[in-house]
Amino acid sequence: MNYTTEWIKNYLKGHDIKPSNIRIKILDYLLNNRIHPTVDDIYVNLLDDIPTLSKTSVYNTLDLFLEKGVVNAVALREKELRYDIGTDYHGHFKCEKCEKVYDFPITEKPIIEDELEDFTIKNKDIYIYGICKECNEKHKKDQLNK
Ligand SMILES: [Zn+2]
Ligand SMILES: [Zn+2]
Repeated sequence: MNYTTEWIKNYLKGHDIKPSNIRIKILDYLLNNRIHPTVDDIYVNLLDDIPTLSKTSVYNTLDLFLEKGVVNAVALREKELRYDIGTDYHGHFKCEKCEKVYDFPITEKPIIEDELEDFTIKNKDIYIYGICKECNEKHKKDQLNK
């Protein structure tokens, strides 16, 4: 899907956010790069486009997006948070080799919710760590070529 500036502006307004140039560019990046980027990833990629960009402004924009429910924060075993434009309920698989983060759907209701009947759940995360399919296939090929 291609997102027009008009669509992005309306999306921001719909989330109660004033659509400034930086906010539009960052949301555009998130929508078109579903890689769960860090502040650094976003900063480096937008710098050519917005030479006046600072890391602080990227950080502040993401903080606002978080507050307004435009993105979710993904806390993998890393120093930096990653940001996720997919705010529906899904799990994350992190490959320990290539460090890519994959989304996967979750259909079953986690058992833990029954135990938390009178609790208010605000956020649910499922994280799985391991080796992704691509890295596994690459490893198999490398073994064959030995
Ligand atoms: Zn991998
Ligand atoms: Zn995700």
